[in-house]
Amino acid sequence: MRFTAFALMATALSVALPATQAHIGPGVPSKIQIRNTDMNTVRAVRRMEHSHDHHRPIHRRAKAAKDEASEAQIETPTEECKPYGLSAVNDMVKDFPTAWDVADILPHDTQAMAIMQAINASGLVPTDIQARGQQPASLMGTGTETGYNSNTDPACYWTATGCTTPKAKGVLPDIISCAEPHTWGYTLDDGPNCTHNALYDFWKTQNQKVSLMYIGSNVMDWPLQAQRGLADGHHICVHTWSHKYMTALTSNQAFAELYYTMQAIKKIMGITPTCWRPPYGDVDDRIRAIAQSLGLRTYVWDHDTDDWEVAPEGPKPTATVQANYDSIISLGSAPAAETGGIVVLQHELTNGTMELVKENYPKMKSAFPNIVPLTACLNLTHPYVEDIIYPNFAEYVGGNVMPSGLPTTFTVQADAVATPQGTLKSMGSLMATAPAGGPDNAGVVSSSSAAAGPSSSNGSPDNLSNKKSAASPSTVIAPFAVVIAGLTAGAFMLLNNN
Ligand SMILES: [Zn+2]
Repeated sequence: MRFTAFALMATALSVALPATQAHIGPGVPSKIQIRNTDMNTVRAVRRMEHSHDHHRPIHRRAKAAKDEASEAQIETPTEECKPYGLSAVNDMVKDFPTAWDVADILPHDTQAMAIMQAINASGLVPTDIQARGQQPASLMGTGTETGYNSNTDPACYWTATGCTTPKAKGVLPDIISCAEPHTWGYTLDDGPNCTHNALYDFWKTQNQKVSLMYIGSNVMDWPLQAQRGLADGHHICVHTWSHKYMTALTSNQAFAELYYTMQAIKKIMGITPTCWRPPYGDVDDRIRAIAQSLGLRTYVWDHDTDDWEVAPEGPKPTATVQANYDSIISLGSAPAAETGGIVVLQHELTNGTMELVKENYPKMKSAFPNIVPLTACLNLTHPYVEDIIYPNFAEYVGGNVMPSGLPTTFTVQADAVATPQGTLKSMGSLMATAPAGGPDNAGVVSSSSAAAGPSSSNGSPDNLSNKKSAASPSTVIAPFAVVIAGLTAGAFMLLNNN
């Protein structure tokens, strides 16, 4: 019997997923929708800025670049989405993969090579899991590999089985849910969208923060919009460089998709994130391990609005997508809300998705008293390598929603380098433990030493572990230590000199 990829996916989901995960979907936007700009215009503007040739016709379609604060003031969508060139960003384009192309390690990038070498040497990345399937041409289907054994699920391959608890030794479980009762874990993917000011303005009026999963190519295209996300106090995670099915990529490509997005965010926004969300949820233990080695914890979701489908940009009428929202909102009065919260997938993708986000907010708020970014859900007070402190859950729901230590002004730092060094507390490792018995090499620390993190001193320690009754405190992995343990002396110097 022969299955198409889609049939296999549908079968796997209907059979393998428990009923509580019925709302999980792949969150698949089309390629064209994700790329919310005309790249030819952006590239032409970059060339123009680079050559100081301001007499070409393209100039009329571009605008003068100012700064984060003035870009945030623009209220006309067409004006917001006029490309601009920031000279500091233009100067660093040569050090990055081409926007929207599959990333790979650039030939001259010795630091990236050294880190990938260290990751390979660490032993964390399973060597028996290969790149699988292929990128669907439309990106509307699934990347599921035909013939994969979903029954044994050796690679904990989410796209086939919904698996979120790794089989590979030492790899941390995905963050899928929010343990706080009556709580909506608020996450939006695919930004920064050039036309997001109206939505971000709305959140400001509501004193609302959100976890935002930013695409590296969008950060490069819309650096001032990206800076606004942080300036407004939202929580920033990595959503890859070009939004491909990660399990279909080679390990070097998967590394590069994450690594160069981290570098873009560091140089443009000044932070080093410690979380990422796989596009389409497409992840397995090979990809999880590469991300973890870069200090990135894998975040998925447990409820999906499928808002990317909404018309006019998407194929479904508003009413259909609204019904998805209504069904998730109705969970606010379900018995399960008394004991735990949810993490919902929404998108900063099109005007249609952003309108729905705004329209549904009052309904969400009346059903779920707590609508919080994942930092609050997880009591994750240090979500970046840098010293920026986010409110824990009690502080957030008490009205103290703004992080402290945010930059007051932004300057693109083309020389800044994100040094992967996820720490236990910043990765949320206190919230869920790796399978017992991590790798024998350096990088394993005991849960007692990890308990020095911020969660031990606030009111709601270790929430996810409470929910995951099967997860007993055992060993957890310090990804930084894993990476460093495998670095040669030369590579170590290279890291520290930057
Ligand atoms: Zn996405």
